[in-house]
Amino acid sequence: MAVDGSVRVRFAPSPTGYLHIGSARTALFNVLFARANGGVFILRIEDTDQNRYVEDSVEDIKESLRWLGLQWDEGPEVGGSVGPYFQSERVGIYAEYARRLVETGHAYHCFCTPERLESLRQAQLKTGEPTGYDRKCRDLPAKEVNKLLAQGTPSVIRFKIPDDGATVFEDALRGKIKFENKVLDDFVLLKSDGYPTYQLANVIDDHLMGITHVIRADEWINSTPKHILLYNAFGWTPPVMAHLPVVLSQSGGKLSKRHGATHLREFRDKGYLPEALVNFLALLGWTSGDDREVFDWDELVQSFTLDRVGTSPAVFSYEKLDWFNGVHIRKLSPEDLADRCIPFLQKDGLVSTPVSQQEVTYLTKIIPLLQERVKFLSEISDLASYFFLDEITYSDPSLLVPAKMSAQETVNILRQALSILTSIDDFSEANIESGLRGLVDSLGLKAGQVFMPIRVAVSGRTATPGLFETLHVIGKDRVLSRMEKAIGVLLEKH
Ligand code: GLU
Repeated sequence: MAVDGSVRVRFAPSPTGYLHIGSARTALFNVLFARANGGVFILRIEDTDQNRYVEDSVEDIKESLRWLGLQWDEGPEVGGSVGPYFQSERVGIYAEYARRLVETGHAYHCFCTPERLESLRQAQLKTGEPTGYDRKCRDLPAKEVNKLLAQGTPSVIRFKIPDDGATVFEDALRGKIKFENKVLDDFVLLKSDGYPTYQLANVIDDHLMGITHVIRADEWINSTPKHILLYNAFGWTPPVMAHLPVVLSQSGGKLSKRHGATHLREFRDKGYLPEALVNFLALLGWTSGDDREVFDWDELVQSFTLDRVGTSPAVFSYEKLDWFNGVHIRKLSPEDLADRCIPFLQKDGLVSTPVSQQEVTYLTKIIPLLQERVKFLSEISDLASYFFLDEITYSDPSLLVPAKMSAQETVNILRQALSILTSIDDFSEANIESGLRGLVDSLGLKAGQVFMPIRVAVSGRTATPGLFETLHVIGKDRVLSRMEKAIGVLLEKH
């Protein structure tokens, strides 16, 4: 179709599970290509395999794509002129086209039973022959075929692979790819239940939907000669084919659960930013041509071209992804980052649902203190809990006591610090700093010996952002009461 010659690409997932991160990369490359060329991005759901259908996977796929910012121009929910976009709603179309192929002599009815096919397979395995259909029904006389059909004998429709010659296609990334026809099987087009196979439905839809470029995972290369033969049989021009490089784990194999998250939703739940994932995924197989790594969406769209997509395997490094996440987290404004942290804090009960304006204002003050340290948003509750909790607990009260000091000496330091902090009316960072530094001088101690007990008293931990800003943000009342509590704990214990 592509009436005006413009680019039309599609992402065509089968709803057999949640969106995999590798599939998200495929979707991203399609969207980038569409956006870079002023084209259209289509989402098509390839749901004709009833046995492998997973109930909530369509919802997950849509939600995940949207979360990544990969909104489709045509497809489920948004519609479009070449729908429906669920293959299960197009079954009649495929059956019709399969019949046409039978009529034109490119396909035939096969009445072989599953049992026969299985024993054929076993026999082939035993003799070490390549497995595949032996074409028993390929040359059945028309009379016989009609009789069997009239009797209602179950049948499938198979494609007639040419006896000799080769099928060649030009992959936009890999160049010429050639398959000898004799290695291709007379594959099934239409199953006995009237449902199409992937091969048939995929080709018909790519044609009817006017797809100009098929950009997909390399695992489909072996299917492509079958697709090309189908295009030829229908008399259609195939779209440009581009098979993306495989994504491998750092140890070389396929990315799997044991390496870490694999479904997009797991990355989202862990608190990766969509910006970081998009940036990271874009570089799994594509380069900008220089050493540049950090891109925002507009920059990617401006720089993306298919000819900079390579063919060598792309290695998925979780460390690299974490690095990208940190980079993109630091690029956010405190307001934006606060906003994105809210669901994580809500989940851990640290802010209310719905969040109050007061909590948002408070969080916006906390965020700049932590922005440098957060690697994923799900860490925020742990990093920030002491800003929110009413009561600090000291799981290990000995942490309150600096090295080579006694509990009593620590109590004295905390008492003096308490009285200085109490006397500060304007509880600003600068006032807190000058008060506490004055105390360090007057006690003749090292700064750490004074600051550490205060830090632990107020936060319950030994590492926090800068002490003065932390005290300022937590606020005078809570700082004082926490210090009193710490003094109490030390006195009780010793
Ligand atoms: N439904 C196939 C899949 O799940 C589509 C492959 C293709 O893009 O042609 O990946």
